[in-house]
Amino acid sequence: MDFDLTQEQKAWQKTVHEFVAKEVRPKAREVDAASEFNWDATRKMGPLGLLGLNIPETYGGAGVDSISAAIALEELGWGCGSTALAIAAHNGLGSTPIVLYGNESLKQTWLPLVSSGKNKLAALALTEPGAGSDLQGGVTTRAVKDGNEWVINGAKMWCTNASIAEYIITLVRTDPQGGSHSLSQILAPTNSKGLKIGPAEKKMGLHGSPTHAVTYEDVRVPLDNLIGEEGKGLQQTLATLDGGRVGIAAISIGMAQAAFEYALEYARERKAFGKPIAEQQAIQWMLADAATEIELARTMLYKSAWLKEQGRSYGKEAAMAKLFATEMAERVCRNAIQIHGGYGYSSEYPIERIYRDVRLMTIGEGTSEIQRMVIARRLLAGE
Ligand SMILES: Cc1cc2nc3c(=O)[nH]c(=O)nc-3n(C[C@H](O)[C@H](O)[C@H](O)COP(=O)(O)OP(=O)(O)OC[C@H]3O[C@@H](n4cnc5c(N)ncnc54)[C@H](O)[C@@H]3O)c2cc1C
Repeated sequence: MDFDLTQEQKAWQKTVHEFVAKEVRPKAREVDAASEFNWDATRKMGPLGLLGLNIPETYGGAGVDSISAAIALEELGWGCGSTALAIAAHNGLGSTPIVLYGNESLKQTWLPLVSSGKNKLAALALTEPGAGSDLQGGVTTRAVKDGNEWVINGAKMWCTNASIAEYIITLVRTDPQGGSHSLSQILAPTNSKGLKIGPAEKKMGLHGSPTHAVTYEDVRVPLDNLIGEEGKGLQQTLATLDGGRVGIAAISIGMAQAAFEYALEYARERKAFGKPIAEQQAIQWMLADAATEIELARTMLYKSAWLKEQGRSYGKEAAMAKLFATEMAERVCRNAIQIHGGYGYSSEYPIERIYRDVRLMTIGEGTSEIQRMVIARRLLAGE
C-alpha cells in the first residue's frame, strides 16, 4: 500500500480543512456552551459534499472514496467534536444502510433530500434503554405487517441526530422467535404519527450534537420502507457499523490532533523555572508520544479505509483503528490538559471541551470491549 495521499485527496483535505477552520472551529465553543447544533455550517456542507460522503452522485451525494471520507471526518473532528459526530452519524449510520441495501424508491426519495444541506439529516436507532452492545438478544422494538404497512412499537435510546433528522432507520424485531435472522431495518420518517422524540439528553460533552430517546407507538410506514431484506437487519447493521467505526476513528484522530496542536503551542509559550516548559524533557516526552500515536492511528485509519475502498474485508482493521484511535485520543487529550496545568482545567481553553467530547468515542458505535471482542473473534477464525 502506498501511504501517501493522491493529489485529489490532498486537494480535498485542503478544501475541507479551510472550510472547517472558517465555519466549524470558530463556533465549537459556542455550540458546546449553548447546546446548539451548528446548522449554519451544516447548510454549507451540502454543496461541498460533506453530507453525501458515501452517497453516489446520481442520488445527490459526493460519492468520495473511503480515504477521502475519513479525511473529511478527521478534519471535522479537528474543528468541533459535536459537529463531527453529527455529520459522521448522518453519513455513516443514517445514510449508509440506504446506499448499501435500500430499494430504488428509498434511494431516490431520501438520499437527495438529506445530502443537499437544505433539509434535515439522517439518523440510525439501534440502542434501546435495555440493550446496546447485545442487539441480537436485547432489541425489543418490534414491527409487524398489517396490510401494506409495518406497525412499529417500542423505544430507542441515545439516537444521535433524532431531532435534526428527516428519518430514523430503526432496528426492529420482525421475528418474535429471536435469533440472528429476527431483526430488520425499517425507515421511519420523523414526522410519522406516533413517533416521539424526547428532549436532548444532558451529556458530559458533545453538547452541540443532539442525542435523544425515541418512542414508537403504532407508527405506520409502508412495507417498502424495509431496508434490504427482512431478517437481515443484524447483518446489515454490523456491516454499517464497520464503516461507522472508521468514521469514529477519524473523528478521534482529528480531536487528538487539535489537542496536540494546542498543547504544543502552549508548551512553547508558557514559562516556568526561567524557560519555556517545552524545554523540559517531561513535557517533550508527552508531545513526542502524542505525535507518534496520532501518526500510528492515522496510518491504521487509512489502511482500514483503503481496504474498504478495495472491496476487501475490513471489519477487523476498522475495529483495530477504532479501538486504538479512540483510546489514543483520550490519552493525548489527558496529557494536553496536563501540559496546560491549571489552565487546562478551565473552560476558557478549548482542551477542556475536547477532553469531555472525546470521552464518548470509546463507547459509541461499539465500546472498546466490543472492539476487542470483534478483533479476537476474527483472529480466532484465522483471519
Ligand atoms: C452520545 C451518544 C450518542 C450515541 N448515538 C447513538 C446512535 O446514533 N444510535 C444508536 O443506536 N446508539 C447510539 N449510542 C449508543 C451507544 O452505541 C451505546 O451506548 C453503546 O453501544 C454501548 O451500549 P450500552 O450503553 O447499552 O452499554 P452496555 O451494552 O450495557 O454495556 C455496558 C458495559 O458492559 C460492557 N460489555 C457489554 N457486553 C460485553 C461483553 N460481551 N464483553 C465485555 N464487556 C461487555 C460494555 O463494553 C460496557 O462497558 C450513543 C450513545 C451516546 C452516549
